[in-house]
Amino acid sequence: MIDERLPLTEPSSLRHYEALLRRLPRSHPHYEQVLNTEGRERAGYFGEKEFLYYLNFVKQEPIFSLAGLRLLHDEHYFQIDHLLITPQLCLIIEIKHLTGTITFNDSNQMIQTTDHERIYTHPKLQANLQAKQLQHVLAHLGYQLPIQTLVVFTHRQGKLITQHPGLVTAPSFIHKYEEIIARYPTVLSESECSWLADQLSSRHMDRAINVMEKFKIREADLLKGVLCPDCAGQQMMRKHGAWYCPRCKSVDKRAHVQALKDYQILISDTISCREACEYLGVESRHVTRRLLLFAGCELIGDNRSAHYKIR
Ligand SMILES: [Zn+2]
Repeated sequence: MIDERLPLTEPSSLRHYEALLRRLPRSHPHYEQVLNTEGRERAGYFGEKEFLYYLNFVKQEPIFSLAGLRLLHDEHYFQIDHLLITPQLCLIIEIKHLTGTITFNDSNQMIQTTDHERIYTHPKLQANLQAKQLQHVLAHLGYQLPIQTLVVFTHRQGKLITQHPGLVTAPSFIHKYEEIIARYPTVLSESECSWLADQLSSRHMDRAINVMEKFKIREADLLKGVLCPDCAGQQMMRKHGAWYCPRCKSVDKRAHVQALKDYQILISDTISCREACEYLGVESRHVTRRLLLFAGCELIGDNRSAHYKIR
């Protein structure tokens, strides 16, 4: 069993992109850019899940695994897709989830060819830089350990063309891993590995992104109202104590909960009753108050300063 000391979780950025894509009109000049960024990050997350599947075939133990470890070094953060701590060494895994044909040139570039060509920095350069940064962090903890890097290509439709020993497809990972481990003597006990994994995961800092700032989107650009979960961008109407979609005719009592979550992610985690009336498109303050409480919002302050904390 692999000890997942920092388990793989869906990046919060994906929830933020999803909220923005729900609320941004398709005609907005940045819509495509947001859609492409969301697609790339989702593919990255999918690649990491694929890698985890192959990692679980490794039989040597112990292995402590840290997914998406993001650490501070010299006032800058660096993030490792997957770090494995073993009694022999630390192994940095850089994951690439790319379709098409992947080739490399003499200028340290990686070229992805699908129906068009995309050029990236050689992933080994990125992994080697992470190795240097990790070395400093380990030195601070009093450890000098061998650090190796490996780039794993996880997409089943990706055709990898390279002789580089540090680049493998996901199904070749186990073999490569055993080959690397066999080259190093044991330098850490299991409890030292465990201690180190705890130390590093306690220093992990999640990446918080503000998607509105990132894509320079203003609050006024966003769609207001309670949106139908089945009809993109369609506003629902309040009818007989529920939300009604005039397009697909569906009825939903809880649809405003998602609308408030979008508000929390994109605009603010607090909302006044007046703001909620306007945002949800409900005239009655009395009804709005009930909707806020139904959605689990907490009333803070009283009278003029009263507002609700969205949960
Ligand atoms: Zn609908």
